Amino acid sequence: MLKNKVAVITGGTRGIGFAIAEAFLKNGAKVAVLGSRKETVDKALEKLSSDDVMGLYPDLSDYASVEKAFTEIKEKFGKIDILVNNAGISAREPIEAYDPEAFKNIMDLNVTAVFNGCKAVVPMMKENGGGSIINTSSMVSKTGQVSGCGYPASKYAVNGLTVSLARELGKYNIRVNAVAPGVTRTDMVAALPEEMVARVAAGIPMGRVGEPEEVANAFLFLASDLASYISGAILAVDGATVN
Ligand code: NAD
Repeated sequence: MLKNKVAVITGGTRGIGFAIAEAFLKNGAKVAVLGSRKETVDKALEKLSSDDVMGLYPDLSDYASVEKAFTEIKEKFGKIDILVNNAGISAREPIEAYDPEAFKNIMDLNVTAVFNGCKAVVPMMKENGGGSIINTSSMVSKTGQVSGCGYPASKYAVNGLTVSLARELGKYNIRVNAVAPGVTRTDMVAALPEEMVARVAAGIPMGRVGEPEEVANAFLFLASDLASYISGAILAVDGATVN
């Protein structure tokens, strides 16, 4: 599905991002995995064990650092066709305990880094005659959550960037979409006691949490030519939790 395509995946070292990297590689893409530290990037590259993968660890909240990383990727793989803005952190604190610095940090990674990635990749995609940008949103971008308001606020902003840039960039054949996962079995969920996961699952219409591979398949579809006329979509992958 992605033969001859080059993809960049931020937060590709574990969880949903790692599953996306695996799915893209399996479908013929060359993949650049971006993480926060050299050690985690090296570990991910070792696990992916492919000649078609490279890894970098730029500061995603700093535009110059992102631009430099994307230039390196273009030098190695020749172009960038697909950008997955997936790196993200969450929050749980109620407003009175919420450190303003933590609010700034979540905006820096979950929002500013998405803007930086889009800004850096657009000239390269225009040069190629098009491309696909896919952002990781969340089911809470439709509902908010009872505590940790910075997280849903950041994902509402991701949806705003997605829909706006889809409109702005359509004329260049650059598609911009988002995937909004529900509760997904990444490290954080896997570390919870099984009975707690069962309680969460009981509240999901499909009766279970999602697997990272199931979320990755939505990215694969949106990245591929099968989605050639889909832009500005926020695709829920949540077992019907929201809507
Ligand atoms: P995870 O914690 O397993 O992985 C997060 C990834 O982001 C890692 O690769 C990590 O290296 C990277 N990252 C974290 N801080 C970074 C930084 N400062 N700079 C660069 N990279 C950084 O999380 P996950 O569950 O796989 O989440 C991936 C995305 O999916 C996030 O945007 C998250 O908000 C979203 N999401 C997750 C769930 C879920 O239930 N797991 C649900 C909805 C949305």
